Amino acid sequence: MKKLIKEIKKFDKLYGYDKTNEPKIVNLVFSMIGLVGEAGEASNIVKKIWRDGITEEKIDSLEEELIDILIYLIKLLIILDTDFDKAWLKKSQKLIKRWGNKPRNRKENLNDTINRRS
Ligand SMILES: [Mg+2]
Repeated sequence: MKKLIKEIKKFDKLYGYDKTNEPKIVNLVFSMIGLVGEAGEASNIVKKIWRDGITEEKIDSLEEELIDILIYLIKLLIILDTDFDKAWLKKSQKLIKRWGNKPRNRKENLNDTINRRS
């Protein structure tokens, strides 16, 4: 993760995307809008996969959009000065507290639920 953060910061400086002198709120809003935009692009590809079938080209495109999402997500965490390891540990402990640390037994899938309702 640290290598990826360093690469993103290097890329931003190299190509003029470094906005560290701007107010944090500007960076926060810009990156959040970017994240949502990339999520929309990824969603559209998934829609096309669902509608038209999967191809290698679509998988490549989806991977590219997912990386775009990852970049914006990391940028948001950088803006917040997030300690990634600490944040992950905190979240994982919260999830374990909520769900326990045993595998969940999901007996019903979405199709079953929808079929039962109709
Ligand atoms: Mg994109």
